[in-house]
Amino acid sequence: MLHVNSARLWQRHMALAQIGATPKGGNNRQALTDEDILARKQFIDWCEAAGCKVRIDQIGNIFARREGLNPSLAPVMTGSHLDTQPTGGRFDGIYGVLAGLEVIETLNDHGITTDAPVEVVVWCNEEGCRFTTAMMGSAVWSGNMPIADALALADQTGTTVADELARTQHAGTHPAEAFPARAFVEAHIEQGPVLELTDTVIGVVQGVQNMSRHEIVISGQEVHAGPTPMNMRKDPMRALAAFLPALYAMAEEQGEHARLTFGVIHASPGSNNTVPGELRMTVDIRHPDARVYQSMVDSAYQLVRSACEAEQCPVEIRCFFEAPGVEFDRQCVGAVASAVTRLGYSHREMVSGAGHDACNVASVVPTAMIFVPCKGGISHNEAESAEPEHLEAGANVLLNALIELSTDQGGSAVHG
Ligand SMILES: [Zn+2]
Repeated sequence: MLHVNSARLWQRHMALAQIGATPKGGNNRQALTDEDILARKQFIDWCEAAGCKVRIDQIGNIFARREGLNPSLAPVMTGSHLDTQPTGGRFDGIYGVLAGLEVIETLNDHGITTDAPVEVVVWCNEEGCRFTTAMMGSAVWSGNMPIADALALADQTGTTVADELARTQHAGTHPAEAFPARAFVEAHIEQGPVLELTDTVIGVVQGVQNMSRHEIVISGQEVHAGPTPMNMRKDPMRALAAFLPALYAMAEEQGEHARLTFGVIHASPGSNNTVPGELRMTVDIRHPDARVYQSMVDSAYQLVRSACEAEQCPVEIRCFFEAPGVEFDRQCVGAVASAVTRLGYSHREMVSGAGHDACNVASVVPTAMIFVPCKGGISHNEAESAEPEHLEAGANVLLNALIELSTDQGGSAVHG
């Protein structure tokens, strides 16, 4: 079995971490800032030094290609993103890009030419913090977002994606649209605690959860906290007190994969001696199984409505974000699983709780993902941390999975 150069992979993480470094050891490299551009240039330099041909598309996605033996074969792709949250870490996204580059370096070191070309992709603006659409570059490339909408996204100062691509000369000439590829495999830190807590090295990702976010607005009657007897109030807080435990119980009933999160609650007028006239909150609901997920959403709506009705408080619920779950390609997931087994790493099947570029790409190219542990499951945080040997293990899996997927078995694996 072929193995990557662990020291080189780690050194490159540390080198990129110098760009946009924050005082607490993290990174601030938001999409298309000068820092992001410096990291992108460093990546391009490394790829060109490794003999790759680099091109950029019209939405700023970077593709570094290492030619294969058979020019008629579509490439196998890998990659992730180099942009970070404002107080982001050194591994989220960066790992998937550098693991891909390390695959190419290792193939070079061993003088191996794959049948199909290998391409490492940097998807532009994955984080969606500066320009508030996450996974933007992969969404445009996959046909899930019109390029005009992406180019028009503006940050808080009014600067658009188009402005920044022009200013930094990172608007490429290649059309930002999917081309035939045999496979896309993205390596990523888990961003959750499961691998670490179960002492497992590799997560073989089967797909991504169904998820949605809902806004609940409950109206009450503002009255004085003193003179108004409890049974003469329309108090939205009491409705909340009734449905909150009911919803948590409902989520618990659905087992270990169910997720329910109340992340925002606002009471107005927000006075300490007035019953709130309005309670506004959001709830985030997730489950990998589409049927269970839908039943969770339905139950949540019903539990909220009946609790509010009991308190005579009008309620409005609306879904403001929904992303359907993704089931990854069986052949690609199989190539990852077989590489893990051959390399002898501990592993488990997983469903991703977070969105990734791979979710978009999966709609046009057979896709899989590889997870490696991160310390404490912490991510989107300057404290994000991962062990060199785990990064190496994931890159070894990526390398061997890509070699398998790039091998010509009669041309039937080419996908359009
Ligand atoms: Zn990421």
